[in-house]
Amino acid sequence: MAFFFGGPKKKHRICIVGGGFSGLHAAQYFKPEKYEVTVIDPQPFIEWLPNIHEVLSGMKKGDELRLPRQPVIERLGHTFRMEKVTDISANSLTTEWGKVLPFDACIVCTGNSYDLQQVPGANQFTFPFKSVESCQQIAKRLHRGTLSSRVTRVTVVGSGLGGVEVLGEVLRAYRARPQFEFQVVSPTQKMLENAPSDLEASIRHHTRRLPMEYHLGNEVDTVDREGLVLTSGRLIESDVTIWTGGAAPRSGKVQSESSQWGKVNEFLQSQHSNVFVVGDAAQFDDKVIKQAFHAVEMGRLAAENAERFLTDKPLKSYKPSHRPQLVTFGDLDTFMLFDDFAISSSLLGAVKEVLFTMGLLQMAPPRNAKDVMRHLDILQRSVRNVYLPTINPMAILDRWPKARIFRN
Ligand SMILES: Cc1cc2nc3c(=O)[nH]c(=O)nc-3n(C[C@H](O)[C@H](O)[C@H](O)COP(=O)(O)OP(=O)(O)OC[C@H]3O[C@@H](n4cnc5c(N)ncnc54)[C@H](O)[C@@H]3O)c2cc1C
Repeated sequence: MAFFFGGPKKKHRICIVGGGFSGLHAAQYFKPEKYEVTVIDPQPFIEWLPNIHEVLSGMKKGDELRLPRQPVIERLGHTFRMEKVTDISANSLTTEWGKVLPFDACIVCTGNSYDLQQVPGANQFTFPFKSVESCQQIAKRLHRGTLSSRVTRVTVVGSGLGGVEVLGEVLRAYRARPQFEFQVVSPTQKMLENAPSDLEASIRHHTRRLPMEYHLGNEVDTVDREGLVLTSGRLIESDVTIWTGGAAPRSGKVQSESSQWGKVNEFLQSQHSNVFVVGDAAQFDDKVIKQAFHAVEMGRLAAENAERFLTDKPLKSYKPSHRPQLVTFGDLDTFMLFDDFAISSSLLGAVKEVLFTMGLLQMAPPRNAKDVMRHLDILQRSVRNVYLPTINPMAILDRWPKARIFRN
């Protein structure tokens, strides 16, 4: 209870729906002395999604990429409820267990998911690339392929950032295995659609001696046990199909509440002025790609705007910042994509590892020596497993001179 003029003042109630990148950074903004904050999320773990592709090759274990959500939220002085929110109105929300939570302001941070319903068979016969658990399942299935002499055809659907990172990790672990074959299917005509064309040439160059096929400009029509049928009518055999594209808002009333992608104004407000929608769930501007740093920025701003709204101060507009995107291609290369050019060097992989450790530190700042040791241990393991192989002297000789600049 906060006090003013000698008497207790009721704290404003804030509900944060979804405790991922944006939700957690929104939660960090609020001081528990001033606000009664509840974070609601059905999942017990926060997952560091930008590095989950490394689970496919065994470079990272699932637990290195996860933080238990409850202690992280409680450490901020807030309450965590492990439930799914099914409905949000102007002043309250309802959870799947029928609990109604009233609020003064709400921040919706529910992310997005793949819409596999659109493609018959995709739900049943493909592996979505979306969580630590799904990557662990893919890793298990790939590993099974090593135990047999039969050919294992691995298909990556999608050639955006996720598709390239998944392909790179699969190649890191399995390109030396003669029984593995690889293919990419993508509706876009080129890999990393908005990046300079030479970058695709670079990817193809890295894979030129491998059993690798690219089916670009092709959509998947149906999937079955044997493989994929493309809209062109072509049939592709596939034993392990990894689906990396086609993000869609999470289904259900929570999203439909403020139209398909949670349409928001410049202050990130939905149709209810005290309900903000942020991160991947928000439909702000087509140019704002669904990336973690936008989600973090939006989460912080929505929290500040919620406070401003509740204290009758003018709200701040969201101005997305421009940052380069880091895309790893296994141990073969790493690309840094800027607006109108890109650079490549396998040594950039180390930057992603540092960002990973810094990100975890930001999400759960260490409280004691044990926490510090845990983070140091994770960084050491990352550097040893992922970065060091790229800086052995032979690799430097082989790769460093090949650091390149690509222009649009
Ligand atoms: C596989 C993968 C790889 C990626 N790689 C990169 C990368 O390299 N770099 C980068 O910048 N970005 C990357 N991204 C994108 C980045 O992870 C997202 O932009 C970011 O996570 C979005 O944050 P968010 O808070 O909007 O959603 P999320 O972080 O997805 O969090 C959403 C949370 O909402 C919860 N939730 C969902 N529905 C409900 C409900 N009804 N009630 C309550 N809670 C609910 C979920 O359980 C989840 O915890 C990647 C994404 C994926 C999936």
